[in-house]
Amino acid sequence: MTDPESVDRIVRGHCSCEAVTFRVRGEPRFVAVCHCDNCRRAHGAGGVEWAGYREEQFEMDDESSLSHWRTPTEATRSFCSRCGSPLFFRAPRWAGEVHIAVAAMIDDPGKAPAVRVYADRPPAWLPVPKDGLKRFGGHDGMQPMGE
Ligand SMILES: [Zn+2]
Ligand SMILES: [Zn+2]
Repeated sequence: MTDPESVDRIVRGHCSCEAVTFRVRGEPRFVAVCHCDNCRRAHGAGGVEWAGYREEQFEMDDESSLSHWRTPTEATRSFCSRCGSPLFFRAPRWAGEVHIAVAAMIDDPGKAPAVRVYADRPPAWLPVPKDGLKRFGGHDGMQPMGE
């Protein structure tokens, strides 16, 4: 069941310099914090909050300032070519989805993060907090860790 109000939800976002703007419609499929090495380096952060949407929910008027990096793991990370803000993630493992950096959003996506993935390999300088979010790890970052 979809909340009738959520269908009309529009969440806007942009990069630091506002050369890249985007919109998504409706609710995200999930919001999660990823602690994998690749997200950490790409975003310069100990964890990255991602909201996952179907591609059909995602809209951009102008992609001319967007750059893409195809990673060795076949994922595509998209960022602003002017200011460098990391924005979008796509991968064959999540075909048909775009994962959007929540930090780039202006509006509330309507969901708070529920899980931490790749939570079993934190750097020594930033232990993954035990804050009640479900923690997952293992080879694909998504095996339940228990508490
Ligand atoms: Zn920018
Ligand atoms: Zn990650």
